[in-house]
Amino acid sequence: MIIDGFEFVVHRNNESRSSWMCIGHNKYKCKVRLLTTGRVLKMKNIAHNHGRTFTGDYRNLKGQMVQVVVCDVNNKLDKKLFN
Ligand SMILES: [Zn+2]
Repeated sequence: MIIDGFEFVVHRNNESRSSWMCIGHNKYKCKVRLLTTGRVLKMKNIAHNHGRTFTGDYRNLKGQMVQVVVCDVNNKLDKKLFN
């Protein structure tokens, strides 16, 4: 998955949802994670500690409409929503 020039790979998944991590996780120790449940995408720690990783052409990719929920990690309610 690519969001705003940053690539993500599936970390864990089960029937209902998938957990994704930034591909900069190992190289930069980037902490940005995503959760997808159907077409709903939840994000937390959206500040990457590195530049964009995707340098290809978006026209060669297949897009998909999703609903994006941005979570505030310092907010207890959002934390619950994310976990
Ligand atoms: Zn990152």
